[in-house]
Amino acid sequence: MRKFFVAGNWKMNKTIAESRALVQALLPDLEAIDNVDTAVCPSYLAVPAVAELCLGAELKVGAQNVHWEESGAFTGAVSPQMVSEVCDLVIVGHSERRQLFGETDETVNKRLKAGLAAGLEVIVCIGETLEENEAGQTEAVVTRQLGEGLAGISETQAASITIAYEPVWAIGTGRAATPEDANHVHKDVIRPLLKKQFGQSRAEAMRIQYGGSIKPDNAAELFAMSDIDGGLVGGASLKADSFVAIVKAASMVDIIKKESEA
Ligand code: PEP
Repeated sequence: MRKFFVAGNWKMNKTIAESRALVQALLPDLEAIDNVDTAVCPSYLAVPAVAELCLGAELKVGAQNVHWEESGAFTGAVSPQMVSEVCDLVIVGHSERRQLFGETDETVNKRLKAGLAAGLEVIVCIGETLEENEAGQTEAVVTRQLGEGLAGISETQAASITIAYEPVWAIGTGRAATPEDANHVHKDVIRPLLKKQFGQSRAEAMRIQYGGSIKPDNAAELFAMSDIDGGLVGGASLKADSFVAIVKAASMVDIIKKESEA
């Protein structure tokens, strides 16, 4: 069974001091849970301070984006080598990057390849807008985003990739996808595409997170689904108690699933 992976995307929130305080509040509770992988993704400026606090801890530290070039005249950008000096992982293709900063499937693919080459784990975000959802285009959009986003990626490289299915209409809106709808996209659309590209056993081992208004009160029902392997959490990762509650929900669901399999 895949190990749950719950990651917090802090977006453009928290000063360095606030980021330190949040991690200090998270660490004791998160370190007591060993059946769920966890990560936090602070703003770039807070990453070194958070990484220092996480030295020797299981909590991983990620960046929210990365450029694909190694160095040069790219004002405002941060290279994969710079990220990998302090981070374990990086998020690419978040819908806010796509919608507000013009990222495309092609640049997502470049960022992914550069992140992997630098030794980072990469969370690749995909998901349809409300308009696309209402027009019945979810499958087509997710298929395109995965096809172009993962173009040229090998089965070996896929071992370092997590997919985050984040329907854009569910992000920050308080309106999460239903567990059944999210699981349908994970199980019947995303996993088969991963199987086609990487083969059955790699695809079965890859984690597909759900993201979009995960809260302590809906986390357990989402994680209970067969193909939801954790979550990418935005708003609810900004407070220690709600992030810990979501990780605990994953931990409990994992225990229940293992008991029912035994
Ligand atoms: C996100 O930022 O990826 C996200 C899912 O946000 P929220 O949990 O606030 O919807």
